[in-house]
Amino acid sequence: MAVLEILIIGHPLLTKKAERVGKIDPELVRLARDMVETMRRAPGIGLAAPQVNVGKRLITVDLSVGENADELIILVNPEILRQEGEVVAEEGCLSVPDIREKVARPYRVLVKGLDLEGKEVEIEGEDMLARVLCHEIDHLEGKLFTDRLSPLKKTLIRKKIKKTGDAGLKL
Ligand SMILES: [Zn+2]
Repeated sequence: MAVLEILIIGHPLLTKKAERVGKIDPELVRLARDMVETMRRAPGIGLAAPQVNVGKRLITVDLSVGENADELIILVNPEILRQEGEVVAEEGCLSVPDIREKVARPYRVLVKGLDLEGKEVEIEGEDMLARVLCHEIDHLEGKLFTDRLSPLKKTLIRKKIKKTGDAGLKL
């Protein structure tokens, strides 16, 4: 397994819609394993393939950050089937360093996708798990959590990121 480089806001792939996975081949399985390793090392609780420079619909989630193998979720072509409720809570992203903002997300979601054997699976997530699943699926649509903030908040974040030195960044 390898730790991959995580793209940072401003990279064009982060704003591009990812492609559906047609075939689960050994290359995709290796990518998923590397993403799990990358997510745990970061450390993070979720990662989407576009964040490691691959425009494919693949996400990994692990609320336990490697502590509990049962909590690892790897989903190919994930889709939200149902969602209900709303929770506003602070959120961050490995691709948007040092920024945490309050974002509204559904309280509960039902997500379907394929596991690495190509078997269809459904996952029901509440609260934090629902939030992470929505956040990662947003990445596949080329959306960052900052896209869900008000224009004023986005401007403030843009200024904050500029101050850290990278003037070429766009939100
Ligand atoms: Zn993210």
